[in-house]
Amino acid sequence: MTVALIVAAGSGERLGAGRPKALVELGGRPLLQWSIDALREVASIEHIVVALPAGLGAPAGAIALEGLTAVEGVIAVEGGAVRSDSVRRALAAAPEGDPVLVHDAARPLLTPQIAERVIAALVGDSNASAAIAAAPITDTVKRADAAGVVQGTLDRSELWAVQTPQVFRRAALVRALEVHVDELAQATDDASLIERQGGRVIVVPTSAENLKVTTTHDLRLAELLLAARSRGASERPS
Ligand code: C5P
Repeated sequence: MTVALIVAAGSGERLGAGRPKALVELGGRPLLQWSIDALREVASIEHIVVALPAGLGAPAGAIALEGLTAVEGVIAVEGGAVRSDSVRRALAAAPEGDPVLVHDAARPLLTPQIAERVIAALVGDSNASAAIAAAPITDTVKRADAAGVVQGTLDRSELWAVQTPQVFRRAALVRALEVHVDELAQATDDASLIERQGGRVIVVPTSAENLKVTTTHDLRLAELLLAARSRGASERPS
């Protein structure tokens, strides 16, 4: 069975909401709730652990946040100073379960189907240590120096914009996270720590719709996409 870790301990300063990003309201629910609800619909996920900002988790380790509903069975831990440290802390508190799915609460448009596809990709490749959701790059990407002078153009056909969920063999993730906190601080995702150790990481193509909410612009976009999704669901014949 899979265990899912949701990292939600970021401050969300760039959103300027004056409260942790995980609690910012999106379509009438806290941002974090969308990811919890999507992962609860995945049959192979038995446990969910959430890393929260200091002071937000209830002492018993269960989530008791204002506005957050239907969270029995979800374990809360205090996150770390950097993202991968929050992953490490959540993993340390995680009950039995292998593989381990890691998801950013900042991606509320996650669907159960995306999570199922990434889990299935890892399970289907016995040599892989991780499978990651990623969208093909549509922009042309250039490298520039500190003065803003272009140094080259990358081959777009080989590039992917990496998202979460990322799904790992548990032992590989434990090993990858056993590094100095400075190295954790540099990792913008957990798969890069696996890559450094020579592990095989496979890409699962997803849509750019699984976007990350960083700015108020992203929040508005997410709101529109979720509204369109629920309109689509209500218009579908039952
Ligand atoms: O800061 P960034 O946008 O990369 O954050 C991605 C995800 O990692 C967010 O869901 C955020 O809540 C989480 N995070 C965390 N602990 C930190 C920093 C970020 O759980 N110290």
